[in-house]
Amino acid sequence: MSPIAFTDLKAQQERIRPQLDAAIAGVLDHGRYIMGPEIGELEAKLADFTGAKHAIACSSGTDAIVLALMAKGVGIGDVVFIPAFTFVAAAEAVAFLGGIPFFVDVLSDSFNMDPASLKLAIADARKADLQMRGIVAVDLFGQPADYPAIGAIAAEEGLFLIADAAQSLGATLDGRKVGTLCELTTTSFFPAKPLGCYGDGGAIFTDDDQLASVMRSLVIHGKGDHKYDNVRVGLNARMDTLQAAILLEKLTIFPGELDARKRVADVYQSGLHGAVKTPKIAAGNTSSYAQYTIIHERRGAIEQSCKSADVPTAIYYPITLPDQKAYNHFPIVSGGVLVSDQLSKTVISLPMHPYLSEPDQAHIMSTVRNSAGANDD
Ligand SMILES: *Cc1c(COP(=O)(O)O)cnc(C)c1O
Repeated sequence: MSPIAFTDLKAQQERIRPQLDAAIAGVLDHGRYIMGPEIGELEAKLADFTGAKHAIACSSGTDAIVLALMAKGVGIGDVVFIPAFTFVAAAEAVAFLGGIPFFVDVLSDSFNMDPASLKLAIADARKADLQMRGIVAVDLFGQPADYPAIGAIAAEEGLFLIADAAQSLGATLDGRKVGTLCELTTTSFFPAKPLGCYGDGGAIFTDDDQLASVMRSLVIHGKGDHKYDNVRVGLNARMDTLQAAILLEKLTIFPGELDARKRVADVYQSGLHGAVKTPKIAAGNTSSYAQYTIIHERRGAIEQSCKSADVPTAIYYPITLPDQKAYNHFPIVSGGVLVSDQLSKTVISLPMHPYLSEPDQAHIMSTVRNSAGANDD
């Protein structure tokens, strides 16, 4: 038996290798490595896939957040509310622009931003006379955050709302697709994301013509009418043509892969429920299951047993953002981030990908059940 993969990019590649080879050869043939025709083609297909009016390809999921914040004019001293339990990119983007990431707690059921904690943080920031500008909500592990609730708070307070959908492309909320759930949505095509390329890549989605045109300029050095006309301070944040060509092929099998991820998640849910805390997807939502993350008080025992049984696992995330050395001087909601703290000590992610076989999944589940049960109190 071949070893179980945490994310099986090899099986995916074997499935579409001839198409990938042809797509790469196509770029080598036309030679337009920067802003070649595949970029526009990919943007059109991504807009189609999400239902967003505009999709803008860029260099990474992190740069996508930077671009969205720049389009909103975030600068020195601007407060942007960020969940404490997530990957560093959103906080990094805000801090990079001179802003202040203000950390908010998350909900243990969804792993996503807690609207009540957000409200408390806004009251805190108001008391401290800080300059509040916006919110970056994150769709952790593939499930959309509570955009109806967070969006209502944003509207009430006059704050912008950006969705960091690096992990949730393809997911839905009340039948609406990620990419359309708020004004600006960013995603990542890092290889291990649900839709990944073979390097770094990202995209931003919006229905707003004005924001879209600003971001199209920002990705190419703030260009105006032509390449050597610079109307604003921008970045070199273009996606490579080669990555777009690869993504165009991967996008054709992406809907089927999302279904396969859901099937794997359903099997985990019925097989692990009761032994460990399994992820809850809110009624009306779907997840793209970037990760299948369970919660257990003694995750160390699960981690050890999995290691012995050749089951790869990962901890997303072992340290909350307010506890990170680079971010521990930024403000935290007055209620604290107790749920984030607890999650950082109890979460563990299991192998999750569209090509996980039934016997492999059965082996994973019995390993987890045995170790969780044996150590449960
Ligand atoms: C992966 C990820 C990012 C950053 O994406 P890159 O393409 O690696 O820059 C941002 N936010 C979240 C939640 C992520 O998981």
